[in-house]
Amino acid sequence: MPGFRQQLDTLERWRRLPALEELDPPGARVALTFDDGPDPDATPAVLEALEAAGARATFFLVGEQVEAHPELAREIAARGHAVGMHSHSHVEQDQLSDPRADFDATGAAIRRATGLDATFYRPPFGRFSEDTYAECLRRRLAPVYWSGWGCDWEPIPPARIADVAVRDLEPGTILLLHDSARYAYRSSALPTAQALPDILAAARQRGLEPVALGP
Ligand SMILES: [Zn+2]
Repeated sequence: MPGFRQQLDTLERWRRLPALEELDPPGARVALTFDDGPDPDATPAVLEALEAAGARATFFLVGEQVEAHPELAREIAARGHAVGMHSHSHVEQDQLSDPRADFDATGAAIRRATGLDATFYRPPFGRFSEDTYAECLRRRLAPVYWSGWGCDWEPIPPARIADVAVRDLEPGTILLLHDSARYAYRSSALPTAQALPDILAAARQRGLEPVALGP
């Protein structure tokens, strides 16, 4: 795909940023994380793929998506996955006029839909503002970045998503994936769901158990 190699080179540089994060201690495990949902497009297929493999994961939910699809947020929690916050409407954080209101609205939407208080936070685009970072800590939300990804915000096929993701799988990897295409360059997130059987099989072949974030 034209431009893909160049995109990967850019991603390789981002990969070396200090924000990269692994499970601590790494252990024989990996954490699959899904951002931007819940979304009827692909969240049900992602949940089915995880269920089929007996795997647990973490979903970083967008407040407006939870308000639009509370039943899907409830389903994520009911199946034993962890939930984190990923802002209310996925805007750049330095565009937020009122970060506290954004956290309040997102947390309330998740609580209404799932009965859970989110304990993790991942900023949209992986970029905090000073205000939102301080707010995150004030609320005792653990900031979570990643150490691997499937490059699945791009319109690439499932086999490519799996290739890119599997390359990154090692003890402690936190893998960034998406169960919604709403804020991405592609029109559907289903290719991510379709890549999951291969990603989960590769993790297990390496002796790595896919776990939800948590204690
Ligand atoms: Zn996102």
